[in-house]
Amino acid sequence: MSTLENKVAVVTGGSRGIGRAIALELARQGAAVVVNYNKSPEQAEAVVNEIKAAGGKASACQADVSDFEQASNLIKHAIETFGDLHILVNNAGITRDGLIMMMSVDDWNAVIDTNLRSTFNCSKVAVRHMMKKRWGRIVNISSVSGQMGNPGQTNYSASKAGQIGFTKALAREVASRNVTVNAIAPGFVDTEILDAMSPEILEAALKMVPMGRKAEPEEIAYAVAFLVAEQAGYITGQVLAVDGGMAMM
Ligand code: NAP
Repeated sequence: MSTLENKVAVVTGGSRGIGRAIALELARQGAAVVVNYNKSPEQAEAVVNEIKAAGGKASACQADVSDFEQASNLIKHAIETFGDLHILVNNAGITRDGLIMMMSVDDWNAVIDTNLRSTFNCSKVAVRHMMKKRWGRIVNISSVSGQMGNPGQTNYSASKAGQIGFTKALAREVASRNVTVNAIAPGFVDTEILDAMSPEILEAALKMVPMGRKAEPEEIAYAVAFLVAEQAGYITGQVLAVDGGMAMM
């Protein structure tokens, strides 16, 4: 029997990049997966079709998770479609980089809302169900930028550091109900989000990585699968770095 057989998972931003890899890995391990997307319906459907073709269960669900009502509907969709909810991966995220002198209020708000407010929105609704059922796993995809700070990313670093504080506070609130809340702090991962960085800056940044390379999305997905397993039930409030040795807190 696979580790995640009979479990239901929601992956926000599951249409592309890291979220796609997480959705595929959780499904491979037996979970029924709701693949959330905002603007990429074809890519989300492709992930769902890939899961179904391999014999798994999946459903795509459009929701802008920065909006509370849409995030609530996403969680409801999972419970209505698959009858339960055990795993929430708050993965949806964006960057709008710029030095603070140049950063618009809109760029600040968009990043905080998409990366941090969404984490609150989805967790608030999901945790209610998980607490009643006395079983749950929440994994927040933070970033090394939230731990170390990154120039040109005050908005992004603040959102990712915020997710870490949120993880620890919520972990303490819900531990007695057998719900764990953890974060993963990836370093540089080979996805479209890195397209915003110039090749020169990326090359310089990779010099700070002891492993000397970017991660593959599947390497983050593997860490998520570890944290949501039944056997990880005593791990909560932690930040697992998957960064090639970049931060070493
Ligand atoms: P990506 O390839 O750009 O994918 C971003 C995903 O987020 C897409 O599926 C996108 O869906 C979704 N999304 C964006 N805004 C959304 C919204 N308002 N509502 C719902 N979904 C939304 O990025 P990625 O690299 O996979 O990043 C995934 C997470 O990992 C992010 O939280 C990011 O901060 C974090 N991370 C990435 C790296 C890296 O180097 N790649 C490093 C550290 C942390 P649509 O296309 O449908 O809009």
